[in-house]
Amino acid sequence: MKEDIIIVGAGIIGMSLALSLSSSNKKIVIIEKNLSNSLKINRVYSISKKTKSFYELLDVWKNIHEINNIDSMCIYYRNFNHKNMITFSEKINQTKIGYIVQSKNISLSLLNKIEEDDNIKLLDNYDIGGIENTEKGVKVEINNHENIEAKYLFSCEGSKSSIKKNLQEKNIYDDYNSKALVFNIEHTIKNNNAAHQIFLKTGPIAFLPTSNNKFSMVVSIKNKYLDDEIFQEENIAHFIEEITNKKFGEIKLTNKPISFDLIGFDSEKYVVGNVVFVGDSAHSVHPLAGMGLNLGVSDIIEIIDIVNSSNISFSRKNLFSRYARRQKIINIQARRQLKFIEKIYSIDNKFIESIVQKSMYTIQKSNFIKKKIVTHANNNLRFF
Ligand SMILES: Cc1cc2nc3c(=O)[nH]c(=O)nc-3n(C[C@H](O)[C@H](O)[C@H](O)COP(=O)(O)OP(=O)(O)OC[C@H]3O[C@@H](n4cnc5c(N)ncnc54)[C@H](O)[C@@H]3O)c2cc1C
Repeated sequence: MKEDIIIVGAGIIGMSLALSLSSSNKKIVIIEKNLSNSLKINRVYSISKKTKSFYELLDVWKNIHEINNIDSMCIYYRNFNHKNMITFSEKINQTKIGYIVQSKNISLSLLNKIEEDDNIKLLDNYDIGGIENTEKGVKVEINNHENIEAKYLFSCEGSKSSIKKNLQEKNIYDDYNSKALVFNIEHTIKNNNAAHQIFLKTGPIAFLPTSNNKFSMVVSIKNKYLDDEIFQEENIAHFIEEITNKKFGEIKLTNKPISFDLIGFDSEKYVVGNVVFVGDSAHSVHPLAGMGLNLGVSDIIEIIDIVNSSNISFSRKNLFSRYARRQKIINIQARRQLKFIEKIYSIDNKFIESIVQKSMYTIQKSNFIKKKIVTHANNNLRFF
């Protein structure tokens, strides 16, 4: 079988990349190990303006169900108190704050479009074996007997890329020494579609509004606090009521918390021969700013820009070296920015705390700085 492009992994990034490449008239085969398992993972994502525009261009956004606008966002430090707060709102900062979408709804919208697309073949429940960079492209063995050849292979397998292992490529890691607990809550006092984030010394807690009386919660906990009673399943609703000063009334968990280790990394190489790493396969950041998927979308935008450049031949050697160079810098900067924020905000020291409070006070008074911050986040943390 010979195609232009092989994509390994039909997560949101793999499917989005396939549709983008198809609009550039490429023939694509996607190899996925288990789509129904992948669709069972239903996270709640904050989506930036840039990512929304990308999905509008792909004609996917309009078919995504249950999109919730974020009308405002409040960031607190240590407690829900006006003195330690920065607020962003669409009205005051004259720019959208973002959108809340369930990953399953993005995936289903992408999948529907892929099924109608003659340029894309999706092979589900397939295992990949050996991978070989050849003179003309790349060769992959699937299900132990068949070979597929293509000009390029994009690894979109998420953070546990088996292709990276197979090619003996490495990541540069940031260990946050933390776990994240993810769960949903219902509450009795309206949230007015405001996202909230509070930075505690135990780690940041994000409240993503999925409706006026529901939040999806991402509670990051430094490992040394993991056994604290407040974070146990039976106590956590009460703990959130307490830290929010009952701002949202009574709180009830609506599902069982899922826990996972928080690790940030960047692939040492983004391109190895004709194999290109994209999305979580290339990088992963702390979830405190809800940026992981948004950064993967920026990768795709850069790839498509290269593919569509009329002066670059698709079969040119080192076609994606510009992608590797640029996106690596951008994603490393993003990881460092988030690591810096996570570190500074979790330091338990009176002097640092007073500096953080003063800086937050300065930012809170300046609509100019706040507008810059929202614009930066909406540009997927890209400075240029
Ligand atoms: C707690 C938490 C909260 C988050 N919140 C946000 C947020 O608010 N906003 C945001 O933008 N991002 C967020 N993220 C990040 C986001 O989840 C990831 O960036 C995103 O899921 C990456 O998508 P992906 O397609 O690259 O990888 P994945 O979603 O991991 O998809 C990988 C796909 O590849 C398949 N696969 C894997 N290995 C193979 C193989 N060998 N062969 C074939 N198929 C394979 C898998 O089955 C899967 O379908 C969050 C992450 C976490 C952990």
